[in-house]
Amino acid sequence: MDPRVEKFMAGITAKNPGEVEFHQAVREVAESLIPFIEENPRYKHAKILERIAEPERIVLFRVPWIDDKGEIQINKGYRIEMNSAIGPYKGGIRFHPTVNLSILKFLAFEQVFKNSLTTLPMGGGKGGSDFDPKGKTDNEVMKFCQSFMTELSRHIGPETDIPAGDIGVGGREIGYMFGQYKRLRNEFTGVLTGKGREWGGSLIRPEATGYGCVYFAQAMLQTRDDTFDGKTVAISGSGNVAQFATEKATSLGAKVVTLSDSNGFIYDPAGIDPEKLEWVMELKNIKRGRMSEYAEKFGVEYYQGQRPWSAKCDIALPCATENEITKEDAETLIKNGCFVVSEGANMPSTTDAVEAFLHHGILYGPGKAANAGGVAVSGLEMTQNAMRISWQREEVDAKLQQIMKNIHETCVRFGQNEDGSVNYVRGANIGGFVKVAEAMLAQGAV
Ligand code: NDP
Repeated sequence: MDPRVEKFMAGITAKNPGEVEFHQAVREVAESLIPFIEENPRYKHAKILERIAEPERIVLFRVPWIDDKGEIQINKGYRIEMNSAIGPYKGGIRFHPTVNLSILKFLAFEQVFKNSLTTLPMGGGKGGSDFDPKGKTDNEVMKFCQSFMTELSRHIGPETDIPAGDIGVGGREIGYMFGQYKRLRNEFTGVLTGKGREWGGSLIRPEATGYGCVYFAQAMLQTRDDTFDGKTVAISGSGNVAQFATEKATSLGAKVVTLSDSNGFIYDPAGIDPEKLEWVMELKNIKRGRMSEYAEKFGVEYYQGQRPWSAKCDIALPCATENEITKEDAETLIKNGCFVVSEGANMPSTTDAVEAFLHHGILYGPGKAANAGGVAVSGLEMTQNAMRISWQREEVDAKLQQIMKNIHETCVRFGQNEDGSVNYVRGANIGGFVKVAEAMLAQGAV
């Protein structure tokens, strides 16, 4: 235990009581950064880390809407505008019943470093609601999105804050929110990313987080002269990120044997091939069904209430949610021969799971580096909107691959140990920090 980290964390805990996920995210960064800041007193004297850990602004609001039975429903709405030192606030919106201030602050905090790592000019933010789209009709989702945007529209804008999707917010929700913003402002602008192709969206944006997570794993594998070819991969989740991580890993010659949702996971020893994946996409994105139906359809095992980390694999890609890999899960993965973990989700590994990965020399890519592909292509969507053009699929994919390679290089630059191995956690934290810190120093005490 580093007493400097403990002192810093005591301040964070006192100022933000009860926000356990936020404390967890800040601690992970503080452990990498405090020794670095001690060597760079300019950052220390300007209290850069203390300032980064305090949101520039938090907007909290009521979201009233009327369900199909004519009953009034009330949800909470949030937008955390965390840091705008290097660009307008940028980060997703999450609709999930577990959403609270702590979760959104941890996500917004991570986003600051992630966006910086992409090298694009984007600050950090995050927002959402405790609204649960599951089990709601399209009409109810639309009513909710319109009410949510009626308030949010006062606080965002293409030069101020540009939200995107996250858990529970996909193309459908972005569409309803964009429509309402346009109606209220009488402006067709790139105020949201993840838009449909026909109305300003970028090609490859839906694929970007999942593809990027695989590209990052590919770069880590390359350091050991290895590839995805012939590897067995365990993936959690079955939403946007999981689907495209499955597609890319499979196209590189790997066999993806698991997918999951909040009810359980499926184990398909033959691999989730492109045909089965297409079926999953229809199930999750259109029918909005459950993964248990996959087990029935393809006659494979379904593990109710469990996560997929007991499955034997070489590579694990957690793509569902935070804290979904515990220390025990990490130890099981390692025992079964898993040697690469690339995080599609944000903070999916608990603090002691991360310690286990680092201790055993696993190629471990933390979310703020490994899943930065999504926000990177969101940044490219903003560029295309501003230029009023749209790039071809190949062009966007090539840029995404380059960005993921550059993020990997940054992690190596700041995270290489004396023995040549790489601590990607330290690399991502310091690599993401420096650009933001320099901008904050230049802009004074604001
Ligand atoms: P989706 O809503 O498309 O999918 C989420 C998936 O995770 C679903 O399969 C869902 O299951 C499962 N899940 C959600 N919450 C839980 C939970 N509490 N326990 C178990 N499973 C759960 O979201 P995304 O794919 O967009 O996001 C997945 C992760 O990736 C999140 O951590 C998100 O922050 C991160 N991320 C997403 C980006 C993006 O571009 N979309 C960018 C960067 C990171 P169910 O259907 O049962 O809810």
